[in-house]
Amino acid sequence: LKHENFSLLPGLYLHIPFCHHKCGYCDFYSITQPEDMELFVGVLLEEIVYRKETFAGQTIDTVYFGGGTPSLLSGTQINRLMSAIRRHYALAQDTEITLEANPGTVDTGKLAIYRDAGVNRISMGAQSFAVAELEFLERIHSADQIALAVEDCLRAGINKISVDLLSALPGQSLQALRQNLQKAVALPVHHLSVYTLIIEENTRFGQMHRSGLLQACDSETEAEHYEQTLDFLAGKGFEMYEVSNFARGQEYYSRHNQKYWNYVPYLGLGPSAHSFDGHRRWANKRDLKHYLKGGFRNVRQEELNRTTQVEEYAFLALRQKRGIDKRHFRQLFGVPFDTIYADFIARFKASEFVENDDNRFCLTTRGMLLCDEISTYLRPILAAQ
Ligand code: SF4
Repeated sequence: LKHENFSLLPGLYLHIPFCHHKCGYCDFYSITQPEDMELFVGVLLEEIVYRKETFAGQTIDTVYFGGGTPSLLSGTQINRLMSAIRRHYALAQDTEITLEANPGTVDTGKLAIYRDAGVNRISMGAQSFAVAELEFLERIHSADQIALAVEDCLRAGINKISVDLLSALPGQSLQALRQNLQKAVALPVHHLSVYTLIIEENTRFGQMHRSGLLQACDSETEAEHYEQTLDFLAGKGFEMYEVSNFARGQEYYSRHNQKYWNYVPYLGLGPSAHSFDGHRRWANKRDLKHYLKGGFRNVRQEELNRTTQVEEYAFLALRQKRGIDKRHFRQLFGVPFDTIYADFIARFKASEFVENDDNRFCLTTRGMLLCDEISTYLRPILAAQ
């Protein structure tokens, strides 16, 4: 089953909850005690088998090792996980297999074993190329290690590489952001993710913010940073295809992340991983000890009502440049987008923020700058349906 723009096949996500050091801004579930890593891999293998019927009869075309720091796992451990996945799930021949890597944890030898296990895409967490910013973010690697790690990927035969950056750091100037972007595009990479730093409550940055030790950027500065990112990357041939994601051509889009944005089912394994089968959602607890005791066998599934599904779909699809595909919307929900969102369309259709025709509804570049604000008006009219 193929949509002309993205795959409708389900994807598989594996959460590896270990890090060398907990970065001050990070809200992902991860711990810094590596003692349980081998035990964890054993339990993850059990969960791979336990969930194998989730998409029975369907082919899967993406596998994503996220975290945490999946590149802390040895080549052998990734190989064991991939062998089990191949044994119990039907993988498409051209499956995109991504692994998130921290530049301080890889070398050519390890990456070559990952590649032999099937990994064909690396998402490299760089965040910045400036010494003071890397220190502030509490990253364990230097700027030089980012470039070396990218070279290692190429030497190991993995040439689909994405780099993650953060923007709108407290006190970061537009020029400092520009230098980071310049260094990123100078690397042989075809995909970039540039996220605005969000100070999350349950992090060390959150505590520092509450006690007045850290000031977040104001929304005007965030918007300026975003605008500069769009302009700069467009000039370097990186097309923005989702609000924070940029690629040098459609073949480099993240196939896996597009599933989240287009409401395509995915199965998440490991502590804190979320799953969605098209109608129901469930998540493992953010608790390694619970997971190691087999907690994944005991999760509550939530049935999504139609209103929630429509709302979530529209919110996520609008964050992509291609916007809402009206044919896909009708396939999923059985009613036209133009009917359910008549009020929303009427509000914005004459503005410079949206484009609307028979096939799609999407935000213009100016609209993308206001994506969050515009999304607050996405209220479906479902009562009459
Ligand atoms: S390395 Fe990544 S996952 Fe680990 S703490 Fe830092 S930002 Fe979070």
